[in-house]
Amino acid sequence: MANLPILQFEEKIVETVEKNPVVVIIGETGSGKSTQLSQILHRHGYTKSGVIAITQPRRVAAVSVARRVAQELDVPLGEDVGYAIRFEDRTSSKTRIKYLTDGVLLRESLSNPMLDDYSVIILDEAHERSLNTDILLGLMKRLVRIRTSNFKVLITSATLDGEKVSEFFSGCPVLNVPGKLYPVEILYSKERPVSYIESSLKVAIDIHVREPEGDILIFMTGQDDIEKLVSKLEEKVRSLAEGSCMDAIIYPLHGSLPPEMQVRVFSPPPPNCRRFIVATNIAETSLTVDGVVYVIDSGYVKQRQYNPSSGMYSLDVIQISKVQANQRAGRAGRTRPGKCYRLYPLVVYRDDFLDATVPEIQRTSLAGSVLYLKSLDLPDIDILKFDFLDAPSSESLEDALKQLYFIDAIDENGAITSIGRTMSELPLEPSLSRTLIEANENGCLSQALTVVAMLSAETSLLPVRSKPHEKKRKHDDSNLPDGSGYGDHIQLLQIFECWDRNNYDTTWCKENGMQVRGMVFVKDVRRQLCQIMQKISKDRLEVGAYGRKSSSRDDYRKLRKALCVGNANQIAERMLRHNGYRTLTFHSQLVQVHPSSVLSTDKDGMLPNYVVYHELISTTRPFMRNVCAIEMSWVAPIKRKIENINVRKLSGGSASSVKEPEEKTELSRNNAETPAVSENAES
Ligand code: ADP
Repeated sequence: MANLPILQFEEKIVETVEKNPVVVIIGETGSGKSTQLSQILHRHGYTKSGVIAITQPRRVAAVSVARRVAQELDVPLGEDVGYAIRFEDRTSSKTRIKYLTDGVLLRESLSNPMLDDYSVIILDEAHERSLNTDILLGLMKRLVRIRTSNFKVLITSATLDGEKVSEFFSGCPVLNVPGKLYPVEILYSKERPVSYIESSLKVAIDIHVREPEGDILIFMTGQDDIEKLVSKLEEKVRSLAEGSCMDAIIYPLHGSLPPEMQVRVFSPPPPNCRRFIVATNIAETSLTVDGVVYVIDSGYVKQRQYNPSSGMYSLDVIQISKVQANQRAGRAGRTRPGKCYRLYPLVVYRDDFLDATVPEIQRTSLAGSVLYLKSLDLPDIDILKFDFLDAPSSESLEDALKQLYFIDAIDENGAITSIGRTMSELPLEPSLSRTLIEANENGCLSQALTVVAMLSAETSLLPVRSKPHEKKRKHDDSNLPDGSGYGDHIQLLQIFECWDRNNYDTTWCKENGMQVRGMVFVKDVRRQLCQIMQKISKDRLEVGAYGRKSSSRDDYRKLRKALCVGNANQIAERMLRHNGYRTLTFHSQLVQVHPSSVLSTDKDGMLPNYVVYHELISTTRPFMRNVCAIEMSWVAPIKRKIENINVRKLSGGSASSVKEPEEKTELSRNNAETPAVSENAES
C-alpha cells in the first residue's frame, strides 16, 4: 500500500479538492484510486463534517474494496468503514467511509435529495460509464450548484476522457496520477482462433512451461467459459510431469462467485507456484490482482444490449474496444515488464475494434431511470432535457415513456402517477414493483413478494433456470413442483413454499439441485421487500416466516392477474401457425417460449393463449424467459391502451430530446480562479 502511485500526490490532491467543488482524477488501474482516495480525505478531516461516499458500478467491487480499506485501517467492516449494495447494508451510525453501488446512492437521493449526510461523494470507475453513474454525474452537477459549502465531488477514472468530464463540470480541474506501468510486449495471433477456450488453454500452458515466474490473467466472456477453461487447465496441469515446472493454482474470478472465493485472488501465492486467474472483464479495471505478468486476451466481452424498437434484450458476445484491450494489456505490467497475448490479429484490433466502449445509457432500457428522474420532482429537471454526458437516443426515451405508461406509472401527459411514486420507492425494476402494488390491491401480496424475490436473485443463483444451451431443464426428474400448467412464476412460488414447508432446510436444497446461497438470498430479499411493502400494505404481513401454507388455485389466479398488470408491456399472444407467440406491444415480434421454461415447447399443444414474460431475450432466436399464463379478458383493456397511445403527449409535446444551452454556474466562476491542474500527460 505504501508505494501506491496515488499516495505521492496526496498533498496535490488535497490542495486541489480544498479549492474546487469538483475534481476529476485520472489514474491507471491499480494506482490506488478506489482504496486510497477515501483514506486520504479522511486523514485530512473530510469525515468530520460528514461521511465520504464512494460509488462503484459493480456490487463485487463495493464489497471487496470496503473490505480492503477496513483491513488497512484495522477496523471491523461495517463500523468506520462499511458498504451498501442492493439488499445488503453493512454500515452503522459509526460509518465514516462508505462504499456503495451507484444504484444505491441514486436511491438514497430519493429520500434525501440534498444527500447532506455526505461531505464528499466520489464517483469511482466513471470510465465504466454505467447508466447509474451517468445519471449521478448529472445530479452531482446540480447538487454542487445548490450545496455550496462543505461539499466535494470527485470523479475518478482509469481511462475516461478527462477533458470531456471537466467540460461537463464547467472546466473543473483534472489531476492525472501517472501510473507505474512497466512495458508490456504485445503479441498478436495470426488469425482468430476457432475456439478461444482451446487457444487460451494452449497459450497458458505454453507460458507455464516456458516462461519465468509470474501469474497469468486470462480474460474470458462469462462464467460458463471460465468454468470450462478452469477444468481444462486443472486437467492439463495435473498431466504435466512432476518437477517439470513450478506448481500451479487456478482461480476463477467473476461477479457470481461467493465473496470468500472472490477474495482468494488477493492473497499471495505460496512460493514457487504460478497462479492462473481466469476472469471476466471484472479484472479489467474493477479488481486489481497483483502479481500478474502475463495476460491472455480473447478480445471479447459478454454484453447485454437492449433494442428499444423491439423491446428485446440480447446477451451478445461482442468485440471489446481498443480502450478495453489496452486496459487488459496494462494488467501485465504492474509489477515488472510483462507480456500480453492477444488472440486476434493486429488488423482486427486496428480496423474492427471501436475506440471506446459504448456507454450503458445507449444500450439499455431506460424505463427504470426515467421513472426515477420523474419521481425526483426536481423543478429544474426535465427528463427529456436532462444533462447527460452522452444523451440517450430519443427512441429509447420514448420507449421508456411508453413502457411506464402501460404500467400506469405515468399518465397520458407523461406526468408521474401516485402508482409511479410508490413504485419508485421499491428497489426493483418497474415491472416487478408494479406487480407488487397490484398484488397488494388484490390480496396476493405474500405470493407476489416471493416471486419477485425469486426473480430478483441473480440468475446464476436461481434454482431452475437452466442455461440456454441446455435443451432440457435440470429438474425434469426431480420432485419439484411444476407450476401447475401456469408457468414459471407459479413454479418459483411453489418451490419457495416447498422449501418453507421444509423449514428452510439446506439439505432439501441440495437434494433438489438448488443453490443454498441463492435460496437464502431470496429469503432475505423477500424479508426486506416485505418490510418496505409493510408501509404501504393493506394486509398485515408477517415479516420473515412465510406462513407454512400452500397457495391455492385462487391465489395463483390473483397472482397471475397482478403479473399481467405489472407486465402489461410484456404480453404475448399465441400464434398457432407459427408454433410460437406474437408480442402485443412494441413492433409485434414472433417469439418463442425459452427452453428453460416449464411451459417450453416440449409440451406443445398445451400452451396458453396469452402469456406475460419477464424478459425477451434474443439468443439463437427471440425467446421469452420466465413465462406465465394469463387470461384473455385481462388483456382487452391493455390492448385498448396500446391502440390509443399518443407518444407526443407522453413526452410532454416534444418527441425528441433537446438539450438546452449550458447555464453559467457558481462552479464555473469558482474554477476561473483555479487554473486546471494537469500533473502529467502520461495517462
Ligand atoms: P484503482 O482504484 O486505482 O484501480 P485500487 O485502489 O483498487 O486501485 O487498488 C490498489 C491496490 O489495492 C492494488 O494493489 C490492489 O491489488 C489492492 N487491493 C484492492 N482491493 C483489495 C482487496 N480486497 N484485498 C487485497 N488487496 C486489494
